[in-house]
Amino acid sequence: MPSHQPTAGDLAVKPEYLSSQPSPMAKTTEPNRNPKYDPKKVHITETPITRSNWYKHVNWLNVTLIILIPLYGCIGAFWVPLHLKTALWAVAYYFATGLGITAGYHRLWAHTSYSATLPLRIFLAAVGGGAVEGSIRWWARDHRAHHRYTDTDKDPYSVRKGLMYSHIGWMVMKQNPKRIGRTDISDLNEDPVVVWQHRNYLKVVVFMGLILPTIVAGVAWGDWLGGFVYAGILRIFFVQQATFCVNSLAHWLGEQPFDDRNSPRDHVITALVTLGEGYHNFHHEFPSDYRNAIEWHQYDPTKWSIWIWKQLGLAYDLKQFRSNEIEKGRLQQLQKKIDQKRAKLDWGVPLDQLPVMEWEDYVDQAKNGRGLIAIAGIVHDVTDFIKDHPGGKAMIQSGIGKDATAMFNGGVYGHSNAAHNLLSTMRVGVIRGGCEVEIWKRSQMEAKGETRDLNGERVVRAGLQPTKVLQNTPTAGAA
Ligand SMILES: [Zn+2]
Ligand SMILES: [Zn+2]
Repeated sequence: MPSHQPTAGDLAVKPEYLSSQPSPMAKTTEPNRNPKYDPKKVHITETPITRSNWYKHVNWLNVTLIILIPLYGCIGAFWVPLHLKTALWAVAYYFATGLGITAGYHRLWAHTSYSATLPLRIFLAAVGGGAVEGSIRWWARDHRAHHRYTDTDKDPYSVRKGLMYSHIGWMVMKQNPKRIGRTDISDLNEDPVVVWQHRNYLKVVVFMGLILPTIVAGVAWGDWLGGFVYAGILRIFFVQQATFCVNSLAHWLGEQPFDDRNSPRDHVITALVTLGEGYHNFHHEFPSDYRNAIEWHQYDPTKWSIWIWKQLGLAYDLKQFRSNEIEKGRLQQLQKKIDQKRAKLDWGVPLDQLPVMEWEDYVDQAKNGRGLIAIAGIVHDVTDFIKDHPGGKAMIQSGIGKDATAMFNGGVYGHSNAAHNLLSTMRVGVIRGGCEVEIWKRSQMEAKGETRDLNGERVVRAGLQPTKVLQNTPTAGAA
């Protein structure tokens, strides 16, 4: 898509300008996209939008290219009959120009996730131009800023500014070029195909966007007007909207299996719309991987195309992250989700926060009718649980006021993991005396780093509850 800047300048960048700018990071005074841009002058975006100046805030070239022309095509379609051959051609050309963006602009030039031979680069630069989304140089530069500064003010299409802003608003309204994060595009300035396409962008757009689709339908089956309206204008509209979805929908809809600290998400709907660019959470984590979808059953025709080009000798050096690295990211995110779930559960009062009881006091209270049971030196109040005890009232009552450690751990019945978990929610104290040292050791163990998660929550693993006493439990394994 045409630039944030009044883009006529973008289309007519002088060759001297390119060669005099080896790296866009070299100078802060470098005109970002438009040689006419004067950084000293107050930019329109620095003045508030009012009734008298709103039209100056609008990027009219972009409005024409992404709103007015498509609107003209939609209206024109009422009077232009759609022939089957033209419809098929429009769909085929939609895929070709879409691939120009996804496999060319995005995965080849913005991320260098593979290398392409000259014929393939020329093809991708041509069909990508036919999608009418700006030059490779401009597109890739913004996209690199988007990855580097995702969700910040330096992200050219940050979804934090709203879904509509990330989809289309950032192009409709003028942007301050000083705001967009700086990125290195020296490699693109060295690619003659990129430089040529940038210098001749307007010609490429008009020819590949409108003239070629019209000529094909006109010469081959005589449908000049249909070719112009359907394979030209409306097809441009659909390719544009599909690509815009990567900036909006892919940062808004779906799962975050690799990292949820930023907005990118994975969703099959976005993938279907964008020729496979919908696995965007993966993509932001592993941007130089030529794939977006890593599972065989996921929809990523862009990846399939690159792979086929490799078989044909047109593409090479396909980059791929090792599954070891990918799985690490997935596991860490899972861990985070687990920690969040764990924090919501009741694991009982931590041992070091329980009051210390004398053994005599424990026995007295139990005699006076309180349903207290001591297991492994921890006192539990089971008064309300007696009637619900799966092993029967008599069994649980026989442990009240006694040391029921052996009884609970297999002496009478080896209790399940769930029983140990449930028991921990009934803790009311720890006994001073015989078991105290043991309890203190266990509480230390519980407090140690490896048994706490990042949020400081206790991690209680199955079979490692403090009431589980292994040395005295011949039948514990069967519990
Ligand atoms: Zn993104
Ligand atoms: Zn990307």
